[in-house]
Amino acid sequence: MSYIHGVLAKTVESLAADVALANRIVHGQGLVTAFGHVSARAGEGRFLIPTRASPALAGADRLLLMDLEGNVLEGEGTPNTEFWIHARIYAARPDVGGVVHVHSPACVVIGQLGQTIRPLHNSGAPLGEVPVYERAGLIRSRELGERVAATLGQGRAMLLRGHGANVAASDVRMATVLACWLEEAAAYQERALAAAGGDASRIRFFDAEEKERVAGELYQPSPLARAWEYFATRSEA
Ligand SMILES: [Zn+2]
Repeated sequence: MSYIHGVLAKTVESLAADVALANRIVHGQGLVTAFGHVSARAGEGRFLIPTRASPALAGADRLLLMDLEGNVLEGEGTPNTEFWIHARIYAARPDVGGVVHVHSPACVVIGQLGQTIRPLHNSGAPLGEVPVYERAGLIRSRELGERVAATLGQGRAMLLRGHGANVAASDVRMATVLACWLEEAAAYQERALAAAGGDASRIRFFDAEEKERVAGELYQPSPLARAWEYFATRSEA
């Protein structure tokens, strides 16, 4: 299947392979079961996203090329109903090249405890502020997609209360790694809360200086590439 002809064809082909792999990674890491999806921007005003199926089943030949208004431009099949999350984040954020939408268990738990993810370990630091979208339910309209994008703002990660999380980054690999780190951070936070008898004030979260410094150490091409390689290998094992 070819999405774009000419000089861009090769680039889009390898992007499609990354998108498919990213979907299998979020499944392999336990961030999704039957639902959820990872996409990548594929040129001006369009993105690649899997057809309506579990991310575990994503393949480069099972992707759709869509525009930011929700139209399918190329590919066979039905889009996931929550494609609006992706469409409207790409519309709002020209800097974003990859969007991950997951139903991560620990993220759901932390959100329903009335908290959000705060860094208490290294990989949590690059996530930045994590706003919470409060409305329960699926994001199945342009308007709800807009609201989600507005809640994310200029951030990298957000929680959807009772639902999961969204992550946005400059490319699909970074967004996927950050989504894995987000769930890791949420799981640590859940564990720390349990150990502290539910008293969040006993947890020594990173302060602003620590957060910025550690984020600067980890949000770099080399550690991100190493993490992608690890998650990719694990997901295909
Ligand atoms: Zn969802």
